[in-house]
Amino acid sequence: MDQYRVFGNPIKHSRSPYIHQAFAKETGQELNYQSQLVELDAFEQDIKTFAQAGGKGGNVTVPFKEQALALCDQVSKRAALAGAVNTLSFRDGQILGDNTDGIGLVKDLLDHKVTLTGSRILLIGAGGAAKGVVLPLLEQAPQQLVIANRTLSKAEQICQQVSDNRLTCCTFERTKDYDFDVIINATSASLDGRLPAIPETVIAGVGVCYDMVYAKELTPFLVWAKQAGASKVIDGLGMLVAQAAESFNIWRGVMPSTDEVLCQLRADLD
Ligand code: NDP
Repeated sequence: MDQYRVFGNPIKHSRSPYIHQAFAKETGQELNYQSQLVELDAFEQDIKTFAQAGGKGGNVTVPFKEQALALCDQVSKRAALAGAVNTLSFRDGQILGDNTDGIGLVKDLLDHKVTLTGSRILLIGAGGAAKGVVLPLLEQAPQQLVIANRTLSKAEQICQQVSDNRLTCCTFERTKDYDFDVIINATSASLDGRLPAIPETVIAGVGVCYDMVYAKELTPFLVWAKQAGASKVIDGLGMLVAQAAESFNIWRGVMPSTDEVLCQLRADLD
C-alpha cells in the first residue's frame, strides 16, 4: 500500500492522518498515512530514509517547512516564493516540493462566498504562512493587497520579491491610510492569546476578517474583529482541510470533497 507521512515536531496534535485517511476512504484510494515525530537535527535523514523505503509523499509542518524547501530537487513557483514547502512527492528518485497553504486559504474564502476579485485585502504577517498566500491571492485579481507586519522589513522583502503593482506593504500603524474589504491575520499572535497591533478603526466596517489560527472558541483576533465591527469572521480550520485536499490531489490526482471532514473536525474541537 502506498505510504504517506506528516513530518513535524511536535506532531501529536496533527489532524493530517485523520484528514488524509478520510479522503482516501471517500475517494476509494488505497493508502496509509501516518504522523512521524522528527528530531530537530534529523529532518533530512528521516525524509531520505522514508523516500528510499518507497514512501510516496509527505506533508511537512513546523518547524521544517524551510528545510523541506532546501531538500527538494524541484519546487513549484508558489513554494519558492513562500520559501517553504508543505507537500513533498517522491518520484523517480527526485524530491518535488509544493506549498498548498495559499490555495487552501483561497478555496476556503471562496467557499465562504468571500469576494476576492476587485477587493482591497489586508494581509497581516510576513512569516511562512503569509508568504505562501501572496501569489494565490494575487491570482484572484484583487484591487489591492497590502501586507503589514510587526517587522516591516520582512513585508518589504515579499513586496520586492513579488514586484506587482497591486502589492504594497506598511507598518501596522499605517494600515489606517487604507480601506479594506477583507482582512487576513496570518500572524501566530492568536496562539499566544495576543493581537497584532492594528488600529481598531481599520477593522470597523470591514466585510470579512479571517484568522489562520483555529480553536474551539473564536480566536482573540476574531473576537476583537467582531467587537470592532467586522461583518463576518472566519477561522483557519477550513484552510487546514482545503490545503490537505490540494496535497491529496497532487499525490493521487483526485480532489476529495472536504465538507464531511471539516464538519467532523469542527465537532471534535467542541
Ligand atoms: P512564522 O513563525 O513564520 O511567522 C509568524 C508571524 O506572526 C510573523 O509575521 C510575526 O511577526 C507574527 N507575529 C507573531 N506574534 C506576533 C504578535 N504578538 N504581534 C504581531 N505579529 C506577531 O509562522 P507561520 O507564518 O508559519 O504561521 C503563522 C500562523 O498561521 C500560525 O499560527 C500557524 O498555526 C497558522 N497557519 C495556519 C494554517 C492553516 O491551515 N489554518 C496553515 C499555515 C499556518 P514578526 O515577523 O514581526 O516576528
